[in-house]
Amino acid sequence: MCEGERAEWQAFEKQHVWHPYVSMAAPPEIFAVARAEGVRLYLEDGRELIDGMSSWWCAIHGYNVPELNAAAAAQLRKMSHVMFGGLTHEPAARLAERLLQMAPAGMRHVFFADSGSVSVEVAIKMALQYWQAQGRPEKKRLLTIRHGYHGDTFGAMGVCDPHGGMHHLFAGVLPHHLFADAPDSAQWNESQIADFEAKISAHRDELAAVILEPIVQGAGGMRFYAAEFLRRIRALCDASDVLLIVDEIATGFGRTGRMFACEHAAISPDIMCVGKALTGGYMTMAAVLTTSEVMHGLHKDGGVLMHGPTFMANPLACAVALASIDLLLASPWQQRVNAIEAQLKHELEACRGLNAVADVRVLGAIGVVELHRPVDMARIQPMFVEHGVWLRPFGKLVYTMPPLVIDSKDLNVVTQAIHDVLKDVEAGMVSR
Ligand SMILES: *Cc1c(COP(=O)(O)O)cnc(C)c1O
Repeated sequence: MCEGERAEWQAFEKQHVWHPYVSMAAPPEIFAVARAEGVRLYLEDGRELIDGMSSWWCAIHGYNVPELNAAAAAQLRKMSHVMFGGLTHEPAARLAERLLQMAPAGMRHVFFADSGSVSVEVAIKMALQYWQAQGRPEKKRLLTIRHGYHGDTFGAMGVCDPHGGMHHLFAGVLPHHLFADAPDSAQWNESQIADFEAKISAHRDELAAVILEPIVQGAGGMRFYAAEFLRRIRALCDASDVLLIVDEIATGFGRTGRMFACEHAAISPDIMCVGKALTGGYMTMAAVLTTSEVMHGLHKDGGVLMHGPTFMANPLACAVALASIDLLLASPWQQRVNAIEAQLKHELEACRGLNAVADVRVLGAIGVVELHRPVDMARIQPMFVEHGVWLRPFGKLVYTMPPLVIDSKDLNVVTQAIHDVLKDVEAGMVSR
């Protein structure tokens, strides 16, 4: 493509195409990607960036992965899509089988949704319909913990952090769910559960479910909490007749060092959402897993789950997801995540010495540097690009969740860039 043509479409794009969470009226610099391979993004202007984000935590195998390309191409030749109402296909069956084999104990049934947010909507509907079918329609509220993030759709927004979250603008139209204090550190202490315990016991008769992200709270603040907190929540849900929905959309498929973060606490949820890395970042797809008890309970009076997306169980996405999971399972993923964790701990430690830095924390293939003040995104983003890395900080958080296949040399470039850019922030070059 000639220079003029590229300038032309980029100018058009800038005028007409929305990007997430930035002003369309006063857009910041947006970088055009021509192609991607391994852990590298190749920009239209010829620069190459090491990807420290896995495209919002999805591309665990990196890009242009031969095994995933082959699975997509083979499925394309058969059918890229067919409706799921009244029809089925082998990719959906095989993927469901694989997911249930690897999921926490008790998961028996799979609903394929088209994005993480939609899977959260479906999980909430499952819980509400379950209690309706049990003759307890008054159990229709949800309890969660602060600093959570569960997606952008209305039901999901209703359980996102009501203050710091991205959706406080809609507070007036969202259902009124309950929010308990989130743990303030990954170090367990008994007081962390007190507020949750009080709220679940006070409201048990009106609660359908508890929903939360296990061990790692992602887009609501990149916070980690102790396995004991999750174990206690499981026990309190059981004791209070409340279902437990676990949102593994960010944590699933190895990111925290376990296949699913629930495994850190050795608990099983009643309903579980997976998404993001499900297809290795190739296609949009998510899934809701649940137990026989919830499935049978929901159908008690002949009812059916009231959800059916157009692209439900898209065969292309199912085929790629199956290939992605098989590739993950055949790889030494646990050693890789352990090695990334050790390197992040070692190399991000230097950031602790910077005045701008409030905290450094690492779990699995997640490295977080929390600052005292929010970063000026419009200025810090190009600085990372100049260092040859792709990172997308938000608020006070500069973090990396690299593809699990990143090697130590490339990861070192990422951690070095974080340190060097934050050093410039400290020098007053980019902070607000
Ligand atoms: C990203 C995310 C979602 C929403 O998924 P989308 O695919 O963006 O709709 C929900 N929950 C968690 C924990 C997430 O990280």
